[in-house]
Amino acid sequence: MTEQTFAPRPANAVDLRSDTVTLPTEAMYERMRGAPIGDDALDGDPTVRELEAYVAAQLGKQAGLFVPSCTMANLLAVLAQTQRNEQVILESTAHMYTSERGAATFTGVFYHCVPGADGAMDLNRLEEALLTEGMRLKTSLVAMETTHNNAGGTVLPLDHMRSVYGMANSRGISVHLDGARMYNAAVALGVTPLDIAQHADTVSLCLSKGLSAPVGAVLAGPRPLLAKARTLRRMLGGAQRQAGIMGAAGLEAVQTMGGRLAEDHATAARLSEGLNRLHPRLSATVPQTNIVQVETADSGMGNAQWVQALAAEGVLTRPWGVTRLRCVTHRHIGAADIDRAVQAFGRVLQAS
Ligand SMILES: *Cc1c(COP(=O)(O)O)cnc(C)c1O
Repeated sequence: MTEQTFAPRPANAVDLRSDTVTLPTEAMYERMRGAPIGDDALDGDPTVRELEAYVAAQLGKQAGLFVPSCTMANLLAVLAQTQRNEQVILESTAHMYTSERGAATFTGVFYHCVPGADGAMDLNRLEEALLTEGMRLKTSLVAMETTHNNAGGTVLPLDHMRSVYGMANSRGISVHLDGARMYNAAVALGVTPLDIAQHADTVSLCLSKGLSAPVGAVLAGPRPLLAKARTLRRMLGGAQRQAGIMGAAGLEAVQTMGGRLAEDHATAARLSEGLNRLHPRLSATVPQTNIVQVETADSGMGNAQWVQALAAEGVLTRPWGVTRLRCVTHRHIGAADIDRAVQAFGRVLQAS
């Protein structure tokens, strides 16, 4: 991860920094205006309740909890399923580790990383990590991530998820799925979100990425656990008042925006193909979903230089690691934008 930059954003830019830049749809605004609302931290907000029940049903779970961010959903999943001085096992480049492990300073829960490929933990290494003898900390949670952000939007095979769930459950260990982009995974696999969510006890889903809601996420899981998470959410300051205004946009997102994610996967593929025509100076990952990583090491320019030069061409990207760029497609990116972006990459190469 890199620091945020707040450079002025050129008008009509092709913004490939993230799918979080998606704006609410007109239907979301309409639904926000008309939604019945209440005080969600007092006696409840009807629209938030509807969203929580809807997502829980979609994911085959007993209960849901609306939270301000997927980071908080993941934190609550850890807090509700672990005690201090225990550990969470997860793949070594998981978002919960690379971007969210500061949580450990509050939770006292350690992260034990297992190396993986395409975001999937090596099962033999997971088996080793699950051994409980000796001086090791007690493992109380195993976490998976699909699609996998740092691996480039890769999708965990369902067989892999089934194996991980079986290995953990047979030892009485809970499994959490960081499913921030799990609707992208469902579309890529041609399965329902439930087909994925069944391989975890708790699941977090981000509403404000490709699904285009302005803010929020939902944590879903067993009812007693979610009751605990609801209490913890209040302790964290995550209980919001007329949250149904945001919940309404979230409902519209989960009910209508999942199907179109295939379009984002197609534009990502178009970007990858276009950039790979600039091989060998650039090489792009072949995306499974909506994220393309571009290797710049052989271009003669560092990725910070690339970000700047592309921005001057009206194409916004983010540096990823030391030599890569990350490009994410979303609802505001069409085929013409991709062609503009590919041309910009070409012009920057020519000028270098
Ligand atoms: C974006 C993301 C998160 C965090 O979501 P926020 O709503 O921005 O807090 C967590 N996990 C993964 C895999 C993500 O991509």
